[in-house]
Amino acid sequence: MSSVVIIGAGLGGLFTGAILAKEGFSVTILEKNATIGGGLQTFKRFGETFDTGMHVIGGMRPGGNIRKICNYLGITDQVRLQDVDDDCTDRLYFSEDKQFYTLAKGKEGFVNSLAAYFPEEREHLEAYVEAVLALTDQVDLFNLRPSDGASRLFAHSDSFMMAADAFIASHVENPKLRTILAYMNPLYGGRADQTPAYIHAIISTLYIKGASRFIDGSSHFADMLADSIRAHGGQVLAGDGVAWIEVNDRQVDYVRTKSGRQYTADYYISDIHPCTLLRLMDEKAFPKSYRDRLDSIPNAHSAFALYIKLKDGTFPYLNYSEYCLTRYEEVWNFSRADKPWPLGFLMMTPPSSHPGPYAHKVLITAPMPFEMVSRWENTTVGHRGADYEQWKQEQADKLLALIEEMHPGFSDCIEAVNTSSPLTIRDYYGAKDGTICGFSKDCHNIALSQVPVVTKVRNLLLTGQNNNLHGFCGVPLTAIQTCEAILGPNYIINRINACNES
Ligand SMILES: Cc1cc2nc3c(=O)[nH]c(=O)nc-3n(C[C@H](O)[C@H](O)[C@H](O)COP(=O)(O)OP(=O)(O)OC[C@H]3O[C@@H](n4cnc5c(N)ncnc54)[C@H](O)[C@@H]3O)c2cc1C
Repeated sequence: MSSVVIIGAGLGGLFTGAILAKEGFSVTILEKNATIGGGLQTFKRFGETFDTGMHVIGGMRPGGNIRKICNYLGITDQVRLQDVDDDCTDRLYFSEDKQFYTLAKGKEGFVNSLAAYFPEEREHLEAYVEAVLALTDQVDLFNLRPSDGASRLFAHSDSFMMAADAFIASHVENPKLRTILAYMNPLYGGRADQTPAYIHAIISTLYIKGASRFIDGSSHFADMLADSIRAHGGQVLAGDGVAWIEVNDRQVDYVRTKSGRQYTADYYISDIHPCTLLRLMDEKAFPKSYRDRLDSIPNAHSAFALYIKLKDGTFPYLNYSEYCLTRYEEVWNFSRADKPWPLGFLMMTPPSSHPGPYAHKVLITAPMPFEMVSRWENTTVGHRGADYEQWKQEQADKLLALIEEMHPGFSDCIEAVNTSSPLTIRDYYGAKDGTICGFSKDCHNIALSQVPVVTKVRNLLLTGQNNNLHGFCGVPLTAIQTCEAILGPNYIINRINACNES
């Protein structure tokens, strides 16, 4: 039996571990935090459980790609999900002209909902949705289609590697509608003239097909994956991170944890940010050119979050997400530190296993460039100083003022507010610059930002959000690639498809 040590029990480490454990590997996952899950982690405040990095997910509706992977792992029945409303999947608010837009699910629903505001663009919208779906269809991995490894992600049409903003502009004319079609770009770290159209298409497709949200928080999903690994004889060990990786002659010999335990295996897989990984080994382990290349890739922005406990019976439960955007023309600028903050945020009332007309809590995630907190970058959790606390309060007040604009009277519904900043994300996940979705992709230089799962250290592989796609709909797909780098091309894809056909 081959053995594997995985560094990090985030979504990527757990999916990779669950697949390899099912395929007969002896799997050990080492996690630095006391709680496993990375972005799937939840925490308790004011008697409520709050999600940290997994609010809206795609791919879990019947027939969805991530659901098919869960079917293969035998865990689908245990996942507790609530689908968002079909006739209102997302509600957008632009403070610039105080206008709301409601979006609906499905090809027709999506087109009809937007054509109600922009009737002259109906035909353009129809063509746009078809183009989005067609781009997504070109990605073999997303569609769990066997292919030869090299072309799996990049079977191009001309628009595949267009910049996403240019792709949208090539279909619709109204500048406001162009902005609306890009509303979710902060979730994938979108940048004007850089993010490839295929990334926009994949995320848009998931939204058009209908998103879901975890009931009572996302941590149960991490626990299920860990249980699946343990059921196959593996172990998931929390609270003792990897502090050193011994590499000799392009081969990992062992990893050593903070407490001094040593682990050896046939394969080592890293689920942590590649730049963080390289700091855990001797400089000579990798060529300088590789280190420089990784250091030079920009990371997607980070986020500032509000975790709000509501007074009982004061604010309705909303079975959809709300997106606030301040200015139409800034929709692609969430990563830019030279812009005013906030440019917008995601607002949601998470679903509960005790549903009712009222919400108990509200989550606000506002994209924020890391530069806004860099003056405290050498501080640690709980020791950042009074000026940092005051700064956080000021940012929270800016967000609360916008929420009050969207929902007059909201401030009277608040019982308590907790905040987190890009430093929180950096320190809890070990993500460089507190990035919420890893390396930014650049359509003008995709070879630079596309980091392969195999490395020059023969028995060290990568997994997680920094390779290929981020988030719930992307990281499990990269886990397949990582496993297939060991087991052979299409091995896991074929196993997943066979299981879903039977
Ligand atoms: C605020 C926020 C909101 C988000 N919202 C969404 C959303 O709504 N939908 C969506 O699909 N995606 C969302 N994302 C993105 C999503 O959370 C990530 O893409 C995904 O969780 C990344 O998984 P990962 O396994 O690559 O990395 P991570 O989840 O970061 O896992 C890495 C793990 O490695 C551990 N680790 C680090 N260093 C070490 C070490 N030395 N030794 C051992 N372990 C170590 C970390 O503690 C962590 O558990 C959001 C992210 C953030 C931050």
